[in-house]
Amino acid sequence: MVVLRSKKEIAGMRRAGDLVVRALALLRPHVRAGVRLRELDRLVEEFIRSEGGDPTYKGYRPSPAVSPFPATICTAVNEEIVHGIPGPRRLRDGDVVGIDVGATLGGWVGDTCYTYPVGDVSPRAGKLLSVTRECLEAGVAEVGPGRRFGDVGAAIQELAEHHGYGVVRELGGHGVGHELHEEPHINHFGRRGHGMRFREGMTLTLEPMINEGTHEIRFLEDGWTVVTADGKLSAQYEHTIAVTSDGCEILTPWHLLMREAARLV
Ligand code: MG
Repeated sequence: MVVLRSKKEIAGMRRAGDLVVRALALLRPHVRAGVRLRELDRLVEEFIRSEGGDPTYKGYRPSPAVSPFPATICTAVNEEIVHGIPGPRRLRDGDVVGIDVGATLGGWVGDTCYTYPVGDVSPRAGKLLSVTRECLEAGVAEVGPGRRFGDVGAAIQELAEHHGYGVVRELGGHGVGHELHEEPHINHFGRRGHGMRFREGMTLTLEPMINEGTHEIRFLEDGWTVVTADGKLSAQYEHTIAVTSDGCEILTPWHLLMREAARLV
C-alpha cells in the first residue's frame, strides 16, 4: 500500500531529513586517510542519539535469513556498492567511500547517502562521483504528480550509460515514512511513460548506485555487503523526497551544506 502524507507529516519527515544531513556534514572533516570506518560509525551514532534520534539501520533485519545490521551507518569503499558493515578497516588516500545514514526522529525516518572522495582521488573516480550525483539530480528533476516512475529510471539510466557506466538493477529507491522500507519500490532504470504515477504526498528515496563497469553485483559472505561483479568502482548518492503539487521537495538537502565538497568532485 502506498501512503500519501499530509503537509504536517512531511514536516516531521523534514526534521528527520535535516538530522541525517547534519550527520553527513559532521562526517566530512573526519572522512580522511587513516580513519577507521567504525570510528565514523561511532561519531554518527553519538550525534544522532544526542539529537534525540535513533539509528534506523542498527538492528534492521530485512528477513529472518539475514543477521541484524550491527551498525548505525552503512559504508561502501571503492568496489563496494552498498550495505558494508563499518569495521576496523582504515580509509586510504584515493579511496571513495559511500556513507549511508538513517535516523528515526519523532517517529519519522530520514534516509540519505553521500559518496566522499578520500584525499586526492583519480580522475576516473572523480568523474564517477560527479556523474552519479548528476544521475540523482536528473532523477529528482523528473518527479512530479502524473509523471511516471519510468521517467525517473530512464533519465538516470540514459545519463549513466552515456558515460559507459552500469546502473545497479537489484536495489532501488523505496517508500519511506514511519518505516525505513515502505512501498513502492522505484527502479533507477526503465522506460519513459511506463510504471506507476507519482502522486502528491508520496515520500520516497532516490538512490542510484552507479558502477564504473558492469551493472552486475555479488554479495560478500557477511550477507550484507554488495560489491561490483567486476571489481570496478561504484558510487551512490541518495535523497529522501516528498512529491509536491508541482514537483518534489528534497527532504535531505545535503547539497546545500556540502557545496565545497561538491566542487571537489
Ligand atoms: Mg534508502
